[in-house]
Amino acid sequence: MKKYTHAYLAFMAIKRLQYGPIPEANKADAQSLVKWFHDYRDFVVKGSWYPDEVFKDNTTSHIIKFRPDQHAADHNFKKLPRNMQQYSLGLSSPLYNQPFVIEMGNLADRCESLAHGVIDCLKMLRMEDRGCPISPSNNHIAMRFFILSHYIADCHMPLHCDARPFSDGENIHAFIESQWETQIKKSYQVDTANERFFYDPYGYPLLQKPTSLIQSVEDDILQREFLYSWGTGNSNTWDYMSAVAQYSYLMAYHMIPSEYNEINLTKEVYKKSQQYARFEQDSRIIFCDAIDSIARVWLHAWTRYRSWEKNKK
Ligand SMILES: [Zn+2]
Repeated sequence: MKKYTHAYLAFMAIKRLQYGPIPEANKADAQSLVKWFHDYRDFVVKGSWYPDEVFKDNTTSHIIKFRPDQHAADHNFKKLPRNMQQYSLGLSSPLYNQPFVIEMGNLADRCESLAHGVIDCLKMLRMEDRGCPISPSNNHIAMRFFILSHYIADCHMPLHCDARPFSDGENIHAFIESQWETQIKKSYQVDTANERFFYDPYGYPLLQKPTSLIQSVEDDILQREFLYSWGTGNSNTWDYMSAVAQYSYLMAYHMIPSEYNEINLTKEVYKKSQQYARFEQDSRIIFCDAIDSIARVWLHAWTRYRSWEKNKK
């Protein structure tokens, strides 16, 4: 995914936590996280782009690459919360519960470690006196939240979870991502000189002429049921992101069936395919699920910190 797509997804996750149907039990935590974020919104673009621009760990930590393999021993698919659309779609995939191998990537480990890091930093900040040289700052911690959002979002980009090399040939991977970036830039006012979005009065990216995709995402994140749970059988960020990666892999085959490869799938062929006819619908699923995941992972980290803080008193 490209720069403003990453920033957009992070902003929409904050928006969902603020205005979405957050259950009563999670409301106080969500509201305090949103309040905290509001002081650091100017870091969203930079933070959520840091992994691509600075860390450049793309070939290891931005991916978990699956390949179907009839001889593989592993064929277990995890569960996800019921409101995840990539999950419902994946359950009817011909590759669901079929053997697979993971060829490369440690995205789930990266997310688990970043989530822990955020909680650790919050605790250190709370323990140390203001200005203490070992204390992380709120600015720094906010950056880490946005960095974390990058890896979560990448996991929802189906081709980050598919071992077929669609960045080769005519690079359909980049083509899809640039389609998304165009949608964002068309829909919101971007202050390119200062590398940020212009804001609306509530501090969110200022909508100018939303495309139908962006309008439907804006609507969905405020209406879609919010489930705090990681999904049955998952108990942490690692389990959850590993499950997301599995359904993202199935989504890749839903968007680009197995008869295609990096040679025969030119842009021309892709644009004429029956799969591309539902590109907007698939993009909506990917965006809405990514936003939901970012909000869920963030809220878990924040809630864990808050309960530590409460027990400390
Ligand atoms: Zn990336």
